[in-house]
Amino acid sequence: MAKVLCVLYDDPTDGYPTAYARDGLPRIESYPDGQSAPASRGVGFTPGHLLGSVSGELGLRAFLESRGHTLVVTSDKEGDGSVFDRELVDADVVISQPFWPAYLTAERITAAKNLKLAVTAGIGSDHVDLEAAITHGVTVAEVTYSNSISVAEHVVMMTLSLVRNYFPSHRVVLDGGWNVADCVARSYDLEGMHVGTVAAGRIGIAVLRRLAPFDVKLHYTDRRRLPSAIEEELGLVFHESAADMVPHCDVVTINAPLHTETEHLFDEKLLATMKRGTYLINTARAKIVDQEAVQHALESGRLAGYAGDVWYPQPAPADHPWRSMPHHGMTPHISGSSLSAQARYATGTREILESWFDGIPIRDEYLIVAGGALAGTGAHSYAVNPATAES
Ligand code: NDP
Repeated sequence: MAKVLCVLYDDPTDGYPTAYARDGLPRIESYPDGQSAPASRGVGFTPGHLLGSVSGELGLRAFLESRGHTLVVTSDKEGDGSVFDRELVDADVVISQPFWPAYLTAERITAAKNLKLAVTAGIGSDHVDLEAAITHGVTVAEVTYSNSISVAEHVVMMTLSLVRNYFPSHRVVLDGGWNVADCVARSYDLEGMHVGTVAAGRIGIAVLRRLAPFDVKLHYTDRRRLPSAIEEELGLVFHESAADMVPHCDVVTINAPLHTETEHLFDEKLLATMKRGTYLINTARAKIVDQEAVQHALESGRLAGYAGDVWYPQPAPADHPWRSMPHHGMTPHISGSSLSAQARYATGTREILESWFDGIPIRDEYLIVAGGALAGTGAHSYAVNPATAES
């Protein structure tokens, strides 16, 4: 029987919810590329309930215990003597989310003598040392596509929020004010602007498709060119590199993975080539931008706004400079953890576990490492030596 160690974020500050804003969720059967949504043989939760926090347990407890397995759930993952470190020594399976990642370093993987499977409930396994996983024969899997659309929606929300000056205008209402000029002196229409994405993978394309009806001019750069049918349908302008693209854009959204090519891609030099007053949205990984360069660009007006949900480090300390820089619309790392996304990645996590325990192959698109090598999605999108261990 297996010991499953699940690291989840803390419950809400006022306790686990007993009621929700809405009843149920729309049913999503498949994703835009035709991949079917996660499907487990049973479901141990109510769709629309909070699953990603400790008491939500990803809805796994009854399923695992009915099969004789042990489930340990904790949010305590850092520092000497953390529950995660204590429980890891004899765990067979580790599950965590990128929003509250259990960093599986080489040392931890070496210490976890029984560890055979590491599941990312969500997308992005850069909190796992993949080289160590390969060496120790640990399988790594994630729920590919489960929250890509959730992130794309967050990008659209942040784009409109920055351009239309939503956050400061809402602040005026909260503060009891009504100075219209205070609100509109930085407010523009998105219509007619040039919007570019760095990378047009699952999230990048979804952002382009969602922004097209706003009558914007769309640009993209990627390692590979999209099929000409998509370029024509959306009126896309392709650029060979981010450096070629950004001087043409009023809004830039970053949707590329963090690796050696993209780490600190948006440094002082690149930011200086952008139009004065560009908006930059980054929901990919914080280290794709130079933290101080972004602060300076907001202070100088090179950037009119910066928003996203990825930070370095995470959780961001209370005095993180990005909390107080001007004209930002940052959130904690939440874009991929809406209640809708949680239902999908909790189902996908159970689907992976059902396959694992029943000796059925895990879907290829969920695999990152298997059989001592990068596999499935991992073989296409991951490298064994990522730029940095950050989520
Ligand atoms: P995909 O793998 O679908 O797409 C990534 C795209 O980026 C691919 O087309 C890839 O090309 C391209 N790419 C890689 N390197 C470069 C480069 N140097 N310049 C331009 N393009 C490049 O990933 P997703 O769209 O699903 O996710 C993108 C990123 O978003 C993830 O890597 C992750 O960091 C982040 N993410 C954030 C979440 C959040 O909660 N904030 C949740 C989920 C993801 P190729 O295929 O040739 O490698």
